[in-house]
Amino acid sequence: VEPALTVRGLSVDFGSGESRLRAVREVDLIVQRGELVALLGESGSGKSVTARAVMGLTAPGQTVRASEMRLGGTDLLRASARARRSLRGQRMSLVMQDALSALNPVLSIGDQLGELFRVHEHSSRRSARRRAVELLSAVGISDPDRRVDEYPHQFSGGMRQRILIAMAIALQPDLLIADEPTTALDVTVQAQILELLDRLRVEFGMGVLLITHDLGVVSEVADRLAVMYAGRIVETGPAAEVLDRPRHPYTQALLRSVPQAGDRGRELLTIPGSPPSPAQVPVGCAFHPRCTMAIERCRQERPLLADSEPGRTSACHRSEELADVAAH
Ligand code: SF4
Ligand code: MG
Repeated sequence: VEPALTVRGLSVDFGSGESRLRAVREVDLIVQRGELVALLGESGSGKSVTARAVMGLTAPGQTVRASEMRLGGTDLLRASARARRSLRGQRMSLVMQDALSALNPVLSIGDQLGELFRVHEHSSRRSARRRAVELLSAVGISDPDRRVDEYPHQFSGGMRQRILIAMAIALQPDLLIADEPTTALDVTVQAQILELLDRLRVEFGMGVLLITHDLGVVSEVADRLAVMYAGRIVETGPAAEVLDRPRHPYTQALLRSVPQAGDRGRELLTIPGSPPSPAQVPVGCAFHPRCTMAIERCRQERPLLADSEPGRTSACHRSEELADVAAH
């Protein structure tokens, strides 16, 4: 079976000529059906730009290049703009952080959900409503028969996020991309939304690409992890292994910035400095100005993403030295 998503050599440029900025650089990503892959990094690392490029939602002035980009068996690089539009929603969907602005305030939830079935599957009004109720129930909204007739403002932030997820999975896509879907929510609701994504990818067999800056989110649900820095993937592998024994100093630093159980009240460690803008990516290893392990070679030569152990990759000249270092 083909993966839900195959991306190879993806680059995204903003602008052109002298003012060209490369926001995403040679990114490879594979998401299997039923698999949840987390794309992790600080804000500004290129995660959302990657997601939008995969969705075909490129802003004017952006150029997307890739050697391969496939949704299941469909070649996205050869698909027309019109074909890409119809793939969105039907075979790939994007859930973002701000559920309120993504929903139409003047339509009931049932009308918004039902419209998907009426437009794409030519369902009758009545069957569209019934399926909307079923979907609300599938995403954990209680009393769906009554709530289906309510409007977005009548739901809490967490419930609106569930509704957005319901809309995203309504047509059973092969791939769901969730970009910081829980960032605006409180911790308890966050956990519930993650559980929901975790359950739905199994039930519906879809691949999920979860974009987040939050390691806590990753450790809850991700099968595999890809860590992004300055537009490039710097480490990949099974989430549990990477979190337990990172092979890249950036991943290690991210892990150290997460409060451990029992740390409550203590000051959060953050990584000193900030990620570079695409206009000012350092020569050599892009992470070197912030890396406590940086050596002269790191300032000269960019480390390539290479196998660090079976099923794992890392782009660091000193990855070998991290082989036996546990994260905590
Ligand atoms: Fe740090 Fe050098 Fe590894 Fe980059 S290549 S992460 S600067 S040790
Ligand atoms: Mg983002």
